[in-house]
Amino acid sequence: MAEERAGSDTPRVAPARGSRNDHTRRHNLSALLTAVHYGGPLTRAQLTRDTGLNRSTIGGLVAELAELGLVIEDAAEETGAVGRPSLIVRPRTDVVALALHPDVDALELGAVAIDGSVVARRRKSVVSSPSPEEAVVFAQSAARELARDLGDARVAGVAAAVPGLVAVDGDTVVDAPHLGWRGVRLATALQEALDLPATVGNDANLGLRAEWSYGAARGVDTVVYLNGSASGIGGAALIGGRMLRGGRGYGGEFGHMMIRSDGERCSCGRAGCLETELNAERLDAAGHEASALDALAGILAAAIANLEVAFDPDLVVLGGYLGALYDERRAAIETGVRDLAFRPDAEDVAIARAALGGNRLLIGAAERAFAPLLADPAGVALRAL
Ligand SMILES: [Zn+2]
Repeated sequence: MAEERAGSDTPRVAPARGSRNDHTRRHNLSALLTAVHYGGPLTRAQLTRDTGLNRSTIGGLVAELAELGLVIEDAAEETGAVGRPSLIVRPRTDVVALALHPDVDALELGAVAIDGSVVARRRKSVVSSPSPEEAVVFAQSAARELARDLGDARVAGVAAAVPGLVAVDGDTVVDAPHLGWRGVRLATALQEALDLPATVGNDANLGLRAEWSYGAARGVDTVVYLNGSASGIGGAALIGGRMLRGGRGYGGEFGHMMIRSDGERCSCGRAGCLETELNAERLDAAGHEASALDALAGILAAAIANLEVAFDPDLVVLGGYLGALYDERRAAIETGVRDLAFRPDAEDVAIARAALGGNRLLIGAAERAFAPLLADPAGVALRAL
């Protein structure tokens, strides 16, 4: 399969087990938990609207989700409305996923609650790129500390966001050049170390996934994402609600689109890639000098215009230092994109700065770890953290 559904990394419909009624019940539990996962606290009336289920069905399903320890239901705040107070269904914030982000300058492990909030984290700065073994040892000790912070939290699994190419198996880091990792079966190592279901994804894909779920790209189905970080420029694209993966899972590496053939040598071995022509050092060197910033804004505009030719996105989301450059040079970037645009109605180009900041990769990785639970709430056993 060359693509994956952004809305559910696992099938939306739970596998059929037992009777047809059982199948329907599991499907409905999934729909309900998914609705509160993305929509936050919802009244039964809102759940009826969002899921299309009738109120009496929802009552039984909410009771079952509450019994599974996944949601709580309580009376809504006083709204002044006449009649019985509406009951509000909330995702329980003591149900968490662990999210690991290994990068060239730091290791980070977060606990993300099923409402998408980061409830605890540990970060460790490193002087040189961490090895996979260091990352796993860090995850193990940080998880013990988070367990002390969070008391009786229950965990669905662990997922890592890695700056590099990740195979479609969700286990193997094929090549993370900035970390110097090649052929590392990271999910297998995490699973053994933490005794939790584990999975691994590309950092930019997970960043876009987070922005789509809770941030700047919420509700938008065709999105191009560019993020500038210590590990260069990560790219990802959501096309009609599906994450672009390419034939072998390596699609969307927009940081390595060629900007100038006589440019600087890139970590990928080629020359003049976007991430060598527009990187954090060049941005620092430009300081607040208008002409230097405009030159960098021009490079970003050219890259965005090329991506618009390829994908015709409804929205372009910029994160990290690219988001900072966009804040500094918004008019120059938007004018540049319009001038270089191919499509006729280029006036409506929509660019936004990513919204989730330092929580983005933790939230995106947690989305992966929560996917099996969301697909089958009654079929996934949570573990004590
Ligand atoms: Zn490159």
